[in-house]
Amino acid sequence: MVTLRDRTERHLTEQANDQSMRVEQLGSGTPEIAVVGGIHGDEPCGVHAIDRLLAEDPSLTEPVKLVVANELALEKGVRYVDEDLNRAFPGDPDADTHEGRLAHDLVTELEGCLTFSMHSTQSHAEPFALLDDVTDDRSELVTQLPVSSVVETSHFSEGRLFTAIRTLEVECGLQGSETAAQNADRLTRAFLTAVGALPGDTVAREIPVFRLEDVIYKDRADTYEVFVENFTEVEAGETFAAADGEEQVAETSFYPVLLSPYGYQEVFGYTAEKIDVLAGAPTPD
Ligand SMILES: [Zn+2]
Repeated sequence: MVTLRDRTERHLTEQANDQSMRVEQLGSGTPEIAVVGGIHGDEPCGVHAIDRLLAEDPSLTEPVKLVVANELALEKGVRYVDEDLNRAFPGDPDADTHEGRLAHDLVTELEGCLTFSMHSTQSHAEPFALLDDVTDDRSELVTQLPVSSVVETSHFSEGRLFTAIRTLEVECGLQGSETAAQNADRLTRAFLTAVGALPGDTVAREIPVFRLEDVIYKDRADTYEVFVENFTEVEAGETFAAADGEEQVAETSFYPVLLSPYGYQEVFGYTAEKIDVLAGAPTPD
């Protein structure tokens, strides 16, 4: 017999779950492919792509799980509520933070799925991909996406979704822009085509690989400036950023990645090394 108290508790639990993430599915069966948006609440492009896919309801050859991750942060229009979700994996059901618990729920939900996770940045308008390890066979999929570069996060992978779930991350463009939302649509379709869930062919391209090397810290200041382009080499001796007018000069040459004046609280971004070019496999006969 279900008592009133049981029902109330269950209702409250359902409400709490509903508030933390939204899970949908296209196609029938158990999905082995997932698309995730809204890991960060101030990056609406991925949510837009998911809603658009649901509205279009295309005929798929394989079922796909669609997850809007941090609904509470999205509602508030903030990157996160308690801590950065993409530094909180694998998470813990008893974590003190909203994102710590959500990370655990997401891992449970995405278990066994090859996952495509969409982000946007303040650093770069063109889409690029991120992988924790480019020697992995996910690289083959990256060459089939409309991206200009791939970033290997290497030793900066801790707490990211790909440490817990087989994931391919993409940055779709500038946060909140219409272009980022359009790019998110294109990237999702390319990913679903590359994995064979949507019919059609993809175009394989050569994509340069940038491996993150170091964090570029910034001093506490009121105004920050960045003078260089991401993915374009900064020469030794070049002034690349400033904090309250205090210039930061490159000691050695590097490629800036995820570099922006205000994108992160304590860092400008990262230095990277250009290490390789991914080339798509030749089309089979
Ligand atoms: Zn993000």
